[in-house]
Amino acid sequence: MNTQLLINGQFVAGEGEIEEVLNPATGEVIARVAEASLEQVQAAVAAAQAAFASWGRTTPKDKATLLLKLADAIESRATEFARIESLNCGKPYLFALNDEIPAVADVFRFFAGAVRNQMGALAGEYLPGHTSMIRRDPLGVVASIAPWNYPLMMAAWKIAPAIAAGNTVVIKPSEQTPLTTLKLAELLTDIFPAGVVNVVCGRGDTVGSPLISQPEVRMVSLTGDVSTGQKILETASKSLKRTHLELGGKAPVIVFDDADLDEVVAGIRTFGYYNAGQDCTAACRIYAGPKIYDKLVADLSSAVASIKFGDQHLEGVEMGPLISERQRKRVASFVERAAAESHIEVTAGGKLGAGRGFFFEPTVIAGARQQDEIVRKEVFGPVVSVTRFDAVEQAVSWANDSEYGLASSVWTRDVSKAMQTAAQLQYGCTWINTHFMLVNEMPHGGMKKSGYGKDMSVYALEDYSCVRHVMVKN
Ligand code: NAD
Repeated sequence: MNTQLLINGQFVAGEGEIEEVLNPATGEVIARVAEASLEQVQAAVAAAQAAFASWGRTTPKDKATLLLKLADAIESRATEFARIESLNCGKPYLFALNDEIPAVADVFRFFAGAVRNQMGALAGEYLPGHTSMIRRDPLGVVASIAPWNYPLMMAAWKIAPAIAAGNTVVIKPSEQTPLTTLKLAELLTDIFPAGVVNVVCGRGDTVGSPLISQPEVRMVSLTGDVSTGQKILETASKSLKRTHLELGGKAPVIVFDDADLDEVVAGIRTFGYYNAGQDCTAACRIYAGPKIYDKLVADLSSAVASIKFGDQHLEGVEMGPLISERQRKRVASFVERAAAESHIEVTAGGKLGAGRGFFFEPTVIAGARQQDEIVRKEVFGPVVSVTRFDAVEQAVSWANDSEYGLASSVWTRDVSKAMQTAAQLQYGCTWINTHFMLVNEMPHGGMKKSGYGKDMSVYALEDYSCVRHVMVKN
């Protein structure tokens, strides 16, 4: 397993402190990765800066050829990537293999095509005697900071649009989950010119913070916590770096009385607990209509109690552990405080899982009210709250009454009601009669404190490039 950093096309051992990387299903150390020193961070940025001179001028066709090669290489090593991701994150192996790795390869394929098909305003004479045209140019060095919940997918979401647009990248994976990004580095160095993508490992304060502060860095891209986004904005403001922020979420799920209950239950059972709920779009905040509420709570609770959780390699396992003991304690304390409220009932789960790993039972919290912490704060664990509403306006206003604005869903058989509700929701995405489904052609990103960067889709290419006007006097 590679534990070395990638700087300027070379693998080098980190010169900083050693970070232990765990298997969250057992708590065992699976790798030791040395952090980058400040000099190594600076060397990575310098390499990216040097590579930009040529990469920034590489044609879309040539960039696309390499992106497609990378996609093929990822696919041909799918089992290896899935094995490492599943070991390091505790994800069920088959979910990593069948859901995540194909989606990761497709990110690179999508941007290979998209960069050859960019559209824009027409060149023309908008002032007599002058011809204007629009260019979309890369920015330079992008510093990318990734979280631990989908390490390889987040690396792909960050690297693919950035390099497709002609930028060069220094990426820092989460200190808890660097292994698949380091594996990806092996493919990157085979396929791309030295310095186009560099990988440095380490914690936020020791490596992330100095990385984003480097003067040559033109843009900072973060997927992470709101508080980290705020810190990054403060640093970026000093030199007015462009920022791309994908922060937390607390997705509302509005279930109207006429919804197909079986579909709703099956949907929340999947989309509320996938990746042990460590997903910023997780279907975690249910608002149920007055007539459907009781049956929804009963059916959902028994469905959730049947989720098979455990070690990532167990046959039929649907949910793994949380990423760390710290995260498990955080989730447990949310549930404890909720359970202490007299109006709340924990109707499924609610306890730590057995064994040495960081397991937490898939949990349903019924009777939650709008002002309750469990409805307002991001838990980032396998915990779903259900709240009863009386009227459509109340459901919409409660759904919007959140500091987050990433994802939402509406469940009803009435198309007109679905569309009217979707139009009023202040979320980057609204699904109707489903949740959580992503496609590379469509953007993923938030509003409000969920941030404003768009991942995937041509909108990401726009985020990672700059619109320029060139005018010729005829
Ligand atoms: P985090 O903010 O703690 O860490 C994210 C990354 O930022 C890590 O690589 C970390 O080392 C780095 N970092 C921390 N402090 C830093 C600093 N001062 N300077 C530079 N880098 C710094 O988040 P996490 O715990 O890894 O991930 C969970 C959070 O990410 C959740 O809040 C979740 O909602 C959010 N998330 C959002 C999306 C999305 O698309 N919106 C996707 C996944 C996760």
